[in-house]
Amino acid sequence: EYVPAVKLIESVASRLEKVFKRNINIDSGGKNPYVYVNPPAFEQLLRIFLDNAYKYSSDDIDVNIDETDKSIIIAVTDYGIGIPKEDLNEIFTRFYRVDKARTRKTGGSGLGLSIAKQLAENNDIEISAESIFTEGSTFTLTMKKETDNDEAE
Ligand code: ATP
Repeated sequence: EYVPAVKLIESVASRLEKVFKRNINIDSGGKNPYVYVNPPAFEQLLRIFLDNAYKYSSDDIDVNIDETDKSIIIAVTDYGIGIPKEDLNEIFTRFYRVDKARTRKTGGSGLGLSIAKQLAENNDIEISAESIFTEGSTFTLTMKKETDNDEAE
């Protein structure tokens, strides 16, 4: 489906802002790019990132939307506990949780990001994470603006 990225993100974010009682700032630089995506899958991906940003930080959450010729890049940034470099490659693995003692009180299962990875793969979306331990994390989705073949039409 061909959908406006900002509108889709706004609808997810405004629902979660009420639940979290936290600001989610969306910055698209005034642009209004469309993406070719399955909306429920996209919403679930966004939710997983935003839920984690909420759990592992206590400040506002930023969502940035950027575009290149062919892609839309959506980045969810928090300014929370961050992820140690040695754990960054493992967080998309099922049941993996960084330092169980440290994160225990948030009570996650370690499944969210493995589901996100699977969802992204199934929907031709690239997923990646960057983080600075104790400073915060950015989770990124890169998706196509258009289908690259006629078969998918
Ligand atoms: P749930 O399945 O309920 O989401 P979870 O948060 O433990 O539980 P994942 O979403 O898969 O599971 O995340 C895996 C681990 O990666 C987390 O336990 C946490 O240690 C780390 N992590 C994920 N997102 C962040 C973030 N934004 N900041 C810091 N650490 C994070």
